Amino acid sequence: MKKIDIIVPCYNEDAVLELFYEKTTEVIRTVENYEFQFVFVDDGSRDGTYQKMKELANINPQVRYLSFSKNFGKEAAMYAGLTYSDGEYVIVMDADLQHPPELIPKMIAEVEKGVDCCAAQRIGRKGESRVRSFFSRQFYKISNRFTDVNLVQGAVDYRIMSRRMVDAVLSMSERQRFSKGIFAWVGFTTVWLPYENVERTAGSSKWNFWSLFKYAMDGITAFSVTPLRTVTFIGGLISLFSFIYIAVTLVKTFIYGIDVPGYVTLLCAVLFLGGIIELSLGVLGEYVAHIYVEIKGRPIFILKDMNFPLTKELHEDEK
Ligand code: UDP
Ligand code: MG
Repeated sequence: MKKIDIIVPCYNEDAVLELFYEKTTEVIRTVENYEFQFVFVDDGSRDGTYQKMKELANINPQVRYLSFSKNFGKEAAMYAGLTYSDGEYVIVMDADLQHPPELIPKMIAEVEKGVDCCAAQRIGRKGESRVRSFFSRQFYKISNRFTDVNLVQGAVDYRIMSRRMVDAVLSMSERQRFSKGIFAWVGFTTVWLPYENVERTAGSSKWNFWSLFKYAMDGITAFSVTPLRTVTFIGGLISLFSFIYIAVTLVKTFIYGIDVPGYVTLLCAVLFLGGIIELSLGVLGEYVAHIYVEIKGRPIFILKDMNFPLTKELHEDEK
């Protein structure tokens, strides 16, 4: 029997975890020829999530859990799950039931046809604020223009991947992980399954405007150097105009003499250039920050507890 791992990053999902487990179990029971293993990743939750996982593991030996020493973020949680998974196929899905478990059989049917990945694509954004939808659409537009990976509008992390695709994802060793980009970057054929957006069953979303903004910035700078080139281009353009303007002003001065007023021109030029310089520094800073974080080479996650049997490979790592 082929094995499928279901990786579920959880941060304060106390209110919904059990329901998630029940609903998903109901669905996978209908799937024949596969054995399933849950991999719950407790991302440093402050509520009873970790205890719930342990309880589930006690009643079902197919439940594995990994528990972080603190909150490392969803990306780290997914990465940890993928690292420990060993199934022929791996499913990644959210704990809040926004990723309908009913799609699992369809996803499996797709990969059985030979593709390496089948991912869910959200259509409609019911239950999401207009402002958020607007910024989200802009993000896709900008990032697809700027980066060399093509992000699909409405693509979510909910997907099934073949072992070779998981290995490819794991071989990308960056600390700051932007999975949407990584999944796109590794290639392989992906089949998209559309589904209606569902509201959270319980608990609350962990995203706010700034965290999304940061996520978007990280995503773009991680997959493209176009912002740097753009800054160079703008600098070049300004220099060119400046030379022309200087030449014209000099000639005018020689012919007509010095004309004293110029306060407004001066002020505009200083403010404009100041703004551009700040902006360029900011863009440069984004990349320096990336280098800084990567060069430190800190672990992506730190485990506090888990119930995986230690495999040989991991033992060797520890030596
Ligand atoms: N999550 C996590 N660590 C975090 C934030 C979120 O593991 O720091 C998990 C969360 O428990 C959920 C999934 O990531 O299973 C998606 O989070 P959320 O529902 O808050 O995001 P949204 O659905 O609003 O994009
Ligand atoms: Mg959610």
